[in-house]
Amino acid sequence: MARYTGPSCRVCRREGAKLFLKGTRCYADKCSFNRRGYIPGQHGKGKRRFKTSNYGLQLREKQKVKKIYGILEKQFLRYFKLAERSEGVTGEKLLELLERRLDNVVFRSCFTVSRAHARQVTRHGYVRVNNRKVNIPSYSIKAGDVVQIKQKDKLVKNIKETIEKIKDRGVPSWLGVDFAGLKTSVTRLPERSDVGMDIQEQLIVELYSK
Ligand code: SF4
Repeated sequence: MARYTGPSCRVCRREGAKLFLKGTRCYADKCSFNRRGYIPGQHGKGKRRFKTSNYGLQLREKQKVKKIYGILEKQFLRYFKLAERSEGVTGEKLLELLERRLDNVVFRSCFTVSRAHARQVTRHGYVRVNNRKVNIPSYSIKAGDVVQIKQKDKLVKNIKETIEKIKDRGVPSWLGVDFAGLKTSVTRLPERSDVGMDIQEQLIVELYSK
């Protein structure tokens, strides 16, 4: 499965926003965006963020969302088409579908420091959904599902340490997390208001509607 493997902080600096791709570092003073918020590259420091065209804004917003969820164009387009076919506002549906990804649920439950880490834990077969192993990060969870981390000593120890470090970040209201049991119940499907990131999804809809 293809994914972006380049430097994460560079992406935040390029998109001009903190995308929280690295985990605990993102919440610390060491965050590169806090220290060097300008465009990356040799001439980045002197480069102003020029007034961008409408198309440029739409494109950047799409790239930003793809990077946040760690997916590439083909898969992103599939989500968009699915959102278009769903009832409701396309942009909102798109974000709701992305939030339902299994790797996102693991991340939002504070079991891992980043979505990339959640993806790795899932790919390695450490995640169970309704007591069955699911190693597909894009697996779409449903209301009533129970997501649990495999009870493997070393992994449990690592995840409990992670929880201690990041649980202040908070868990969205659509997830009921049992930190001791490393288990999350999906109490309802996520809504647009649960996304908690500064995203202008209508720009993405406009881009794909051209
Ligand atoms: Fe982005 Fe996190 Fe790097 Fe900061 S530390 S620039 S939020 S990936």
